[in-house]
Amino acid sequence: MTFAQIQLDVPIEGPFDYLVGAHSVRRGSIVVVPFRNKKMVGVVEQVSFTSSVAAHRLKTIETVFDLEPLSQSYFYLSQFVANYYRVQKGEALFLGLPTAVRRVNFIDQFTEVVFKLNKVGVQEVGDNLSKRARGKNRLLDLFKEDRWITLPEALSAYSLARAELANWEKRGWIERRVERAVPKHDPNITNSDGQGGHTEVVLTKAQNLAVESVIAKLGVHQTWLIHGVTGSGKTEVYFEIMAETLSRKKQVLVLVPEINLTPQFEYRLRSRFPHQKVVTLNSSMTDRERFQNWQMARLGVAPIVLGTRLAVFAALPKLGLIVVDEEHDLSYKQIEGVRYSARDLAICVASQAKVPIILGSATPSLETYFNVVESRYERLVLSERPQGPLPRIELIPVDRSQNRGISPQILQSIRSCIANGEQALVFMNRRGYASALFCSSCNWVAMCHRCSAKLTIHKHTHRMHCHYCGYQGKLPNQCGACGNQDLIGLGQGTQRIEDSLKAEFPDVSILRIDSDTTKRKGAFMEMRGVIEKSEVDIIVGTQMLAKGHDFPNLSLVVILGSDQSLFSSDFRATERLYQQLLQVSGRPGRGATEGKVVLQTEFPQHPVYQSLIHETFDDFAQKLLTERKEALFPPYCFQALLRVAAKKESSVWSFLSLAQTKALKIKIAELDVYDAVPSPIFKMAGLYRGQLLIQATSRSVMRKFLNVWVSEVNAIKENGVRYAFDIDPIDV
Ligand code: ADP
Ligand code: ZN
Ligand code: ZN
Repeated sequence: MTFAQIQLDVPIEGPFDYLVGAHSVRRGSIVVVPFRNKKMVGVVEQVSFTSSVAAHRLKTIETVFDLEPLSQSYFYLSQFVANYYRVQKGEALFLGLPTAVRRVNFIDQFTEVVFKLNKVGVQEVGDNLSKRARGKNRLLDLFKEDRWITLPEALSAYSLARAELANWEKRGWIERRVERAVPKHDPNITNSDGQGGHTEVVLTKAQNLAVESVIAKLGVHQTWLIHGVTGSGKTEVYFEIMAETLSRKKQVLVLVPEINLTPQFEYRLRSRFPHQKVVTLNSSMTDRERFQNWQMARLGVAPIVLGTRLAVFAALPKLGLIVVDEEHDLSYKQIEGVRYSARDLAICVASQAKVPIILGSATPSLETYFNVVESRYERLVLSERPQGPLPRIELIPVDRSQNRGISPQILQSIRSCIANGEQALVFMNRRGYASALFCSSCNWVAMCHRCSAKLTIHKHTHRMHCHYCGYQGKLPNQCGACGNQDLIGLGQGTQRIEDSLKAEFPDVSILRIDSDTTKRKGAFMEMRGVIEKSEVDIIVGTQMLAKGHDFPNLSLVVILGSDQSLFSSDFRATERLYQQLLQVSGRPGRGATEGKVVLQTEFPQHPVYQSLIHETFDDFAQKLLTERKEALFPPYCFQALLRVAAKKESSVWSFLSLAQTKALKIKIAELDVYDAVPSPIFKMAGLYRGQLLIQATSRSVMRKFLNVWVSEVNAIKENGVRYAFDIDPIDV
């Protein structure tokens, strides 16, 4: 008798034993099995001839998907995720599978109705058809081929085929049937879908040096940091190294932090590599599209795979190189479910496959920078732009009393920018109109009733939004406490900036880009196009626009509202603010125009601003590292966070206190167990949230501790509590 050990997507330790029955399965086969009165998709981990459970108590596999089994390297990565991020192996195995494969009715997603026209039909239709009805004739010709015809085929022969088929069917001439088949990929075909139009650039000395360094070590694992200022031509460097990798018949995985950055990168890839298939993987595509691209990636059909963090699970069989663009970006960290870092996993994948990985950034994360300092990674520097100078940041000091809107000096800069026929970007990293609704007579502030957070005013729609749970409500016309009708909107948001710019520049076209205006699929791309065609003069936007984008006619960047981040309690706030400001200030002056960046602030003497202006990135990073070392913060320590949420506040505290007691009993040196504290947003969407921080001086100390503690926490019985371990958390 044959048994299969199967992993399921459940938070319970697997595998689970099943009888194989008459099926044929192997390690990596994806199957459907009965589990606790329902059907579930499972992954076969092992096939064996024995089971510790008596055969008559076991259930049998119901179906086996018609799919190539998951590869050894996929198993390896999942095992790593399970061990490192402390989740069940089953959960980790499913993390990287596209939705289409996680459905028990997998095969139903690949059905297609096909048609045939019977003999009588062919005769009758033929007899009554005029020569001039060209479309109908084409349709008839198609049906004369002795095979099953799909609707799309029929429609491409004749655009009104749908009605015609219905008509034929009524007369009893049509046979139809449903075909189910998973699309197959011939692993030997590399089809191209390039668009050409790439203009050759002559690489600079620094670019060449970077390219040669990596190419010299293409066959071995090495983590490279390409540290190049914004616009220094990092992408061109990736491309050269990719070209060499591709010429050796290897696959390349390229990760970008955000879906919005994919189309631009995809376009550049297709132009540069017109003869290589580029497939993308991200969460905004249809299930079917993602499934097909995943297949092409993992079966080695697609030479270039471009995607957001989930693409790290693609398990390319011929992997030769990984590129992680904008490696510092926080979007690489998944912040719910399994809280993995795609950048860190990419390094793990590259090391397992013994191939190089390139991390690229103008503002590397301190963790990466530290690894360079410690000689674990090798850094290649591009310190100049090949196309003109890097814009400098100019501080525009304003008084507190003045700091309500945009300073006259900045308005003047915008005016002359527009007069030159160039574009200005006004960066404000807060959407909405105002960040709070405030009563001047009793100090009441409109709060979300489900979160411990202020509601943001969205004036154009006369509503208030909670940016944490998504709650929306009508804008009140009087104070919720005293009835006063004189309510004030405090703080600036993108809508308010847009309004004041409209008042100031009534005749110019202004475009606001934030997550409110780009909700609709494709909206962001349209707006990008509008900017590129210079159909707008002023763009108001959030951090969506700060990253990676390249607008040739943009010559001025105005930064507003960054003071808000100066006094945050998060130890990473300074690093992030600096990165964000340097990124956004790298947007202008990329085309023929020279760039200028102005930053409005009440605190021009603040060290972050001062180092932005007077120091290099290295000076700044060294200083931060010294601070972190003194305070023993990452990268000088390793953190794990237990996050707990419950409807009842007392459940949160009792769970955390039990977890803390257990942690303190584990005697491991060089490990700190902190007190349980409320999360930064204590209540969110009706749940109270608390957290417990663990800090260790090394990864191995942390691992030893978690090996004991995690299972003890898993054993805690407390009703209505949700919890998760967050390893290497990015906000504490
Ligand atoms: P990064 O990725 O570092 O932001 P890009 O690779 O996007 O920089 O390059 C910025 C701009 O400079 C692009 O328009 C690119 O075509 C151009 N560029 C890059 N390298 C060169 C070069 N060696 N000579 C001329 N232009 C270059
Ligand atoms: Zn009031
Ligand atoms: Zn809320």
